[in-house]
Amino acid sequence: MNNVIEKLAEKIRGRVITAADPDYDNARRVYNAMHDRKPRAIVQCTDSADVMAVVAAARESGLELAIRGGGHSVPGFGTVDDGLVIDLSRMNNVQVDPIKKVAHVGGGATLGDVDHATYPFGLAAPGGIISTTGVGGLTLGGGLGYLTRSCGFTIDNLLSADVVLADGRQVTASDYQHEDLFWALRGGGGNFGVVTRFEFQLHDVGDVVGGPLFYEFDDAAAVLQGYRDYIANAPEPLGCFFGWQIAPELPFIPGDRVGDLFCVLVTCWNGSHDEIERVFRPLRDFAEVKAEMVDVMPFPALQSAFDGMVPEGMQHYWKADFVSELTDAAIEAHVRYGEMTPHISSSMHLHPINGAAQRVGADETAFGHRDKNFAPVVAGIWSDPADNKANIQWVKDYYDAIHPHSGSDGGYVNFMSSDDDYRAAANYGVNYERLSVVKASYDPDNIFHVNQNIAPANRV
Ligand SMILES: Cc1cc2nc3c(=O)[nH]c(=O)nc-3n(C[C@H](O)[C@H](O)[C@H](O)COP(=O)(O)OP(=O)(O)OC[C@H]3O[C@@H](n4cnc5c(N)ncnc54)[C@H](O)[C@@H]3O)c2cc1C
Repeated sequence: MNNVIEKLAEKIRGRVITAADPDYDNARRVYNAMHDRKPRAIVQCTDSADVMAVVAAARESGLELAIRGGGHSVPGFGTVDDGLVIDLSRMNNVQVDPIKKVAHVGGGATLGDVDHATYPFGLAAPGGIISTTGVGGLTLGGGLGYLTRSCGFTIDNLLSADVVLADGRQVTASDYQHEDLFWALRGGGGNFGVVTRFEFQLHDVGDVVGGPLFYEFDDAAAVLQGYRDYIANAPEPLGCFFGWQIAPELPFIPGDRVGDLFCVLVTCWNGSHDEIERVFRPLRDFAEVKAEMVDVMPFPALQSAFDGMVPEGMQHYWKADFVSELTDAAIEAHVRYGEMTPHISSSMHLHPINGAAQRVGADETAFGHRDKNFAPVVAGIWSDPADNKANIQWVKDYYDAIHPHSGSDGGYVNFMSSDDDYRAAANYGVNYERLSVVKASYDPDNIFHVNQNIAPANRV
């Protein structure tokens, strides 16, 4: 089997890193420190040819294959024990065409790489809320964040993708070529191949008005109710998610409140500055705002504002659903478990997925839950592995309490944990069967299975 690795090293321009290499421990590390896996080799690819060589090696040797974009997957899908890892982090180049307002983005870029390249042109691609997240995994699962209500999911802005397939060929998928593959890539996760280049439609986004508003925990039910009612019809340039937040030591937090649990609304207004008062007034009326950091800022500053709260190397365990109606009973359950938020980095985020995201039909892309209004995620994040048992239990108990109120079995594929594999069909929702057929034609042997896996139709 070592022969496989040696032959691979001869073929590629990037680096093949094995256990014999002093950089091995560094190269095998992924974002969620719970996953301490030992691949046979990590291949840091530099171009499509490298990727094609690794896919061929995996196919011929039978070694398992993991694809790593930004490495953020909570279930650790960017690595695998005793297999091959395609590490795309060196393929993070971003090229902007400001006239056409499109960006060509390498398969291993992060959201921060995209922001860095697009902001000087007054443009942005809709992404998420943390700049270190990989474009690859985020996009293929859907991609929700600050600009979802105004510009749709990240996939709604995908124009084409270059994909290395299981048979080793690279093809371009778009509305005009490999249309079925293009459909499946937009929500079907990393099931169909290795995306070496994404082409995104960009939007006019320069300086936004955004940041967090902090409210007393005791006002959480009122804030959640007000938020639920307002966000249903709020102007679409407003991105705004609810969360729990133990107050960190920051200049705008009164010193005697550091460490207290608050609820927050994190905002991003990408509309006219003349409307700020009208748009933000209702948020301030839900309850008294106790602290805030809402200001005009470059979009990249907002998308990286919370990076420091979730550095690499922490323990992660998450659970998620989609929700049509946020009922008062659900709010009661949120408040009950929100009060037990165990760590400054842990939270429940309630993301709105209405507005522009709902103007795309459920069968137009593989993202099947277009009728849902919210994507809640209970994100257990903490630093000490000694706390794993208690904090995983908090996430499970919280999820068990809110799930009966969700009105849906499915959740966002990108917010799942490693014990959520059984939910794959529900997560892909109405599109699962069609995805399974497309999977059978592009990856009949399920080479790309280290993901929220879609079984090829011929294997069901
Ligand atoms: C701190 C944090 C914040 C987050 N915030 C958001 C958010 O705001 N919005 C949101 O939508 N999601 C968010 N997520 C979830 C995120 O979308 C997923 O974790 C996603 O999988 C990350 O992609 P990645 O490339 O970094 O991960 P990786 O671990 O590298 O990959 C994840 C999956 O995608 C596949 N993959 C990655 N790149 C490629 C590629 N180029 N070609 C083919 N397959 C590929 C991998 O095989 C794997 O199955 C967040 C996650 C974290 C940990």
